[in-house]
Amino acid sequence: MISLQNIEKVYRTTNIETLALNNISLDIAKGEFLSVMGPSGCGKSTLLNIMGLLDAPSRGQIKISDQTTDNLNDKQLAKFRNQKLGFIFQSYHLINDLQVLDNVELPLLYRDTTAKERRQLAAEALEKVGLSNRMKHFPTQLSGGQRQRVAIARAIVGRPEIILADEPTGNLDSAMGNEIMEILLQLNQNDGTTIVMVTHDEHMAQKTHRLVRLFDGSQVL
Ligand code: ADP
Ligand code: ADP
Repeated sequence: MISLQNIEKVYRTTNIETLALNNISLDIAKGEFLSVMGPSGCGKSTLLNIMGLLDAPSRGQIKISDQTTDNLNDKQLAKFRNQKLGFIFQSYHLINDLQVLDNVELPLLYRDTTAKERRQLAAEALEKVGLSNRMKHFPTQLSGGQRQRVAIARAIVGRPEIILADEPTGNLDSAMGNEIMEILLQLNQNDGTTIVMVTHDEHMAQKTHRLVRLFDGSQVL
């Protein structure tokens, strides 16, 4: 489902070069739930950004659903991302002056859908995360766990094959974190969604199929 071949990422700023990823090769199967761990600065977010086609590698190749991505232009990349991938972040990244339902509809605006279809799909996604009773709320009127559930609904509303989650439970207490983890496990088991999750929590990582550890930009074997 996701194939990384000899990925290298160098960040170049005026006076320094940082080798953030050093020759990473990784194959993630359809339906797999993979976690990525490692100390701060080891390259986890960079890896996720590259898998998510948000950032280009300095060297190496990425394939998603057997499609090579390095020949796509920005517009094609954006479309591909919108159709194939759902993103979840530690800090939710919701739009605070939009109601929950409108936040969840956002990814569908880039697709050929009617307002009625968008509403229907967003309501279904919110039902899946147990938030049907909060559709008219604003994000600031919700708890952290609820906000993250809205973010999950937004990530799944377009039925992506892959979810990329960057420390989705990092801002939550353990009870809320476990709720979020349960939702991700269900999406993986019931819908067959492939998930890659960065986490600092060994306990969460143990619930996934496979754990990849990074250290200083390299995969620890
Ligand atoms: P992690 O997510 O594991 O904390 P990151 O992927 O954010 O690690 O960062 C990996 C390394 O690359 C770090 O040394 C970080 O300082 C550096 N880095 C990340 N993003 C940038 C950037 N946009 N410009 C320069 N250096 C960066
Ligand atoms: P989050 O906690 O929401 O995952 P981070 O604080 O890890 O976000 O990083 C936020 C953004 O800043 C990321 O897109 C990352 O690539 C970028 N970043 C991380 N480290 C650096 C750095 N040293 N210099 C510039 N940008 C960085």
